[in-house]
Amino acid sequence: MPEVNPEAFRRQAGLFATGVCVITVQHDRQISGMTANAFTSVSLDPLLVLVAFSRQAHTLEVLAQTGEFAVNVLSREQENLSRHFAGSAASLPEIHFEGFEGGPRLVGSLATIGCSVEQVVSAGDHRLVVGRVIALSPTPAEGERPLVFWRGAYWRLPAGDVGQAPALEGEQIFFD
Ligand SMILES: Cc1cc2nc3c(=O)[nH]c(=O)nc-3n(C[C@H](O)[C@H](O)[C@H](O)COP(=O)(O)OP(=O)(O)OC[C@H]3O[C@@H](n4cnc5c(N)ncnc54)[C@H](O)[C@@H]3O)c2cc1C
Repeated sequence: MPEVNPEAFRRQAGLFATGVCVITVQHDRQISGMTANAFTSVSLDPLLVLVAFSRQAHTLEVLAQTGEFAVNVLSREQENLSRHFAGSAASLPEIHFEGFEGGPRLVGSLATIGCSVEQVVSAGDHRLVVGRVIALSPTPAEGERPLVFWRGAYWRLPAGDVGQAPALEGEQIFFD
C-alpha cells in the first residue's frame, strides 16, 4: 500500500482523466485567466457548477471583486493556451477574447459557460466556488474534440466519429 502523503495523493488523483478549462474574469478593463481542471457540473435545478481555486490564485482575487466568471472548455488544439494560463508556456500563444456574459470567452474554446458566484466554501488550501450558470455558448461542430489531462500529461482524443474511435488512441504530448 502506498503511503498517504501529498505526492502519492497527487499521483492517484491524477488517474482521474479530466478536460481542461481556462477560467476568465474581467474587472473593469483587466482580464485574468487561469488554467483549471478542478471543474465539475453540480446541479440542474438550479444550474450550478463548481471550480476549486488555489487560495493563492490571482484570478480568485479578481473574482472576489467581480462575482462573475466564465469557464472556457479547451479544445484539443489549445494545449498551448492551457500551458500559458498555468504560467508554464515556453512562448506566448495568440490569445483572443470576446465579450461574454460572466467573463470573457476565449476564442476557439469548445464551450464557454458564463457564471455568477453563488457560494464560496473554504476547503484546505483551496476555495470551492459554486457558480450559477447565466450563459452558454453555441454547441460546437460535431468533429470538435476536447483537450484531456491524465497522469500529469496532456492527451488529445482522436478525431473521427464518436463511437468509432478506438478507446485508447490518445496521443500523449508530454509527461512531467
Ligand atoms: C492542467 C492544469 C490544471 C490546473 N487546475 C487548477 C485548478 O483546478 N485550480 C487551481 O487553482 N489551479 C490549477 N492549476 C494551476 C494554475 O493554472 C496555475 O497555478 C496558475 O498560474 C494560477 O493562475 P493565477 O490566477 O494565479 O494567475 P497568474 O499566475 O496571474 O496567470 C497565469 C498565467 O496566465 C497569464 N494571463 C493571465 N491573464 C491573462 C490575460 N488577460 N492575457 C494573457 N495572459 C494572461 C499570466 O501571464 C500567467 O502566465 C492547473 C494547472 C494545470 C496545468
